[in-house]
Amino acid sequence: MPITSIEELSKLIELSGSEKEWRESGSGSLPLLISDHIASMLHEPAIRRQFVPDALENMDDTGNLDPQEETGHEAAFRLVHRYHNRAAFLVTDRCFSYCRHCFRRRFTGSMTGPATDEEIQKAAEYINSHKEIKEVLLTGGDMFTLSDDRIAFLLKTMKESNPDVIFRLCTRAVAVYPERFTKKLFGIIREHQTGAPYYLMTQFNHPAELTEDAIGAVRGFLDLGIPAMNQTVLLKDVNDDAGILIELSNKLLYNRIKPYYLFQGDLVKGTQHLRVPIRKGLEIERRMRMELSGLGMPQYTIDLPQGGGKVILTENHLIGKKGREYIFTTPEGDTREYPDPIS
Ligand SMILES: *Cc1c(COP(=O)(O)O)cnc(C)c1O
Ligand code: SF4
Repeated sequence: MPITSIEELSKLIELSGSEKEWRESGSGSLPLLISDHIASMLHEPAIRRQFVPDALENMDDTGNLDPQEETGHEAAFRLVHRYHNRAAFLVTDRCFSYCRHCFRRRFTGSMTGPATDEEIQKAAEYINSHKEIKEVLLTGGDMFTLSDDRIAFLLKTMKESNPDVIFRLCTRAVAVYPERFTKKLFGIIREHQTGAPYYLMTQFNHPAELTEDAIGAVRGFLDLGIPAMNQTVLLKDVNDDAGILIELSNKLLYNRIKPYYLFQGDLVKGTQHLRVPIRKGLEIERRMRMELSGLGMPQYTIDLPQGGGKVILTENHLIGKKGREYIFTTPEGDTREYPDPIS
């Protein structure tokens, strides 16, 4: 049985004063929900910090609930169309475990429930009538909290009207509830695997999350020919350490999961205690780049406030220009010049 209250949690682990004082309060307050799979790993500090709530969430009055201004970019209900060529469909507000750093807290765990047949149809029609949309993220919440039947309906409806659109299957369930990924579920995905490919988008934040079961769940997608990409959130006292992130990247790559993004924490109210200073993030990024192959290196990215969109953060190597010569610094700190062609 999953854990849903501080009382249940305190029977399992010794809670700190601040953890005991956490209260679910008002809008944007994420419920407490911890799956059995995660409960069995709470002895790992990096896991505990991601899933055990803390009163610091209640005290944070910085940021706001929708820094990406997704609400302002909602096209059809639940469809966020912020970039002209791709859109995100919020399939459900439910997850199998709620991450305390969740950036979509205005919606996640808000009891909105799964999308209705009509909402799914409306979103599918909207996508169909906007041919500039090449990719759609099926996200939430976690789409795999839907029943097998609902998932079948979702994929069927989306694919029938949008055979050429790439759908990203976004889920944290492979990490927090791997038993969800049954033969039957993979059978349903295979049945609706027509036209453009699916991409699996996972969220692993720490090497400890890559358990045998989690890797097995991802393998189910890979075996269907679905490529897997990982998004990590940079989190204080979870993974704000180059060594941990290098280990994570190598372990992901070894398991055929491409490290895609490393996200700077969004300015979401209630998550300030989990954010990492950008200067530290850039130093981590620099060390990762020295130690990882190009394939293993995720893009350190910030989703700018007020719906500014995602931009990449990296050490700047192009430091100036002298006539035709561009001046660069090498990773070792030397300089090099590179001339434009003579025109
Ligand atoms: C991040 C995001 C996407 C996908 O962006 P990519 O950079 O292509 O991964 C699409 N829509 C919304 C609203 C997003 O926040
Ligand atoms: S799985 Fe994703 S949507 Fe759900 S709580 Fe975690 S970060 Fe938020």
